[in-house]
Amino acid sequence: MLKYLLLLALGAIVWWHWRKRRDADVAPPETPRPVERMVHCAHCGVHLPESDALADGGRHYCNAAHRDAARRAGG
Ligand SMILES: [Zn+2]
Repeated sequence: MLKYLLLLALGAIVWWHWRKRRDADVAPPETPRPVERMVHCAHCGVHLPESDALADGGRHYCNAAHRDAARRAGG
């Protein structure tokens, strides 16, 4: 009788390990990131996400130096 209990316990352990490994193999569902609008720098033309860009007068710039350069050039 004890032999069957041990076999049952062993089977349960094997099953539990198999399930754990199977669950780990399944990649977690990727949450889709919201699509961000891309803008281009009005000075050098590089494309970058709008959240990273500096907005100035309806134009976008990749950094402050390009914004300042465009201000100097355009008035
Ligand atoms: Zn730029």
